Amino acid sequence: MTSPTPPGCDLDTIVSRTRHLLLDFDGPVCSIFAGLPAAAIADRLRKVFGDHASMPDDVARTADPFEVFAYAATISEDLAARVEAEMTDQELAAVPTAVPTPYVHEVVTACQNSGRSVAVVSNNSDRTVHAYLARHGLDDRISLVIARTSHDPALLKPSPHLITQAVDALDAEPGECALVGDSVTDVKAAHLASVHSIGYANEPGKRERLTEAGAGAIINSLADLALRLRARVADPELLQLSLRTFQGHAFGAPGLTPRP
Ligand SMILES: [Mg+2]
Repeated sequence: MTSPTPPGCDLDTIVSRTRHLLLDFDGPVCSIFAGLPAAAIADRLRKVFGDHASMPDDVARTADPFEVFAYAATISEDLAARVEAEMTDQELAAVPTAVPTPYVHEVVTACQNSGRSVAVVSNNSDRTVHAYLARHGLDDRISLVIARTSHDPALLKPSPHLITQAVDALDAEPGECALVGDSVTDVKAAHLASVHSIGYANEPGKRERLTEAGAGAIINSLADLALRLRARVADPELLQLSLRTFQGHAFGAPGLTPRP
């Protein structure tokens, strides 16, 4: 088993060790709340508490639905279940207006062509992730979805639970897996699960925050990752297949020629 890469390790080193790419959903795959803002969903979740509920100022004002959900779980399991159900409904309503992340399809293709599997590991609901992937033609290209199926927020990232579930389902070693995430919670969860982490710095300030959290590498665009994946083949048998399939074309195509 390969050890997780240390913070600041370069992207090539991580990619060369990665046979299974785990993608966080909101950020690396799409912007799920592009058309239905997260702040509006947080408001809807607060309504589930009822008129008489008093909540701490930070929960009353947060634009992050997950903070509202986490607070609900401190009150009762029943409330957590009702808030989670409403959050799932809202996430599903957001699917039609979600915007794909630039180059995510290229990353998936690069993984397929280089002998790597792709999984989604998400705090968003399992139904939401599946609905999005089907809508965007990714459902038969992504081998595994491990996402929220319970009303227990303690099972979500930064817990390693979902990542470890994915590693087990892939019958993989943690050191063969890398998680691409845009949040500090992704990096923390990856460390706890002993998988590599690639921080996706898709907003100003994230590079610093993800670096500080200990991300193994940082990318600003998924194009960087797609290029590296194409250049480094994980499965030699699949490479031979690709070369035979593309014979006559492969050697002119960037990324299909193996490195020594
Ligand atoms: Mg995210």
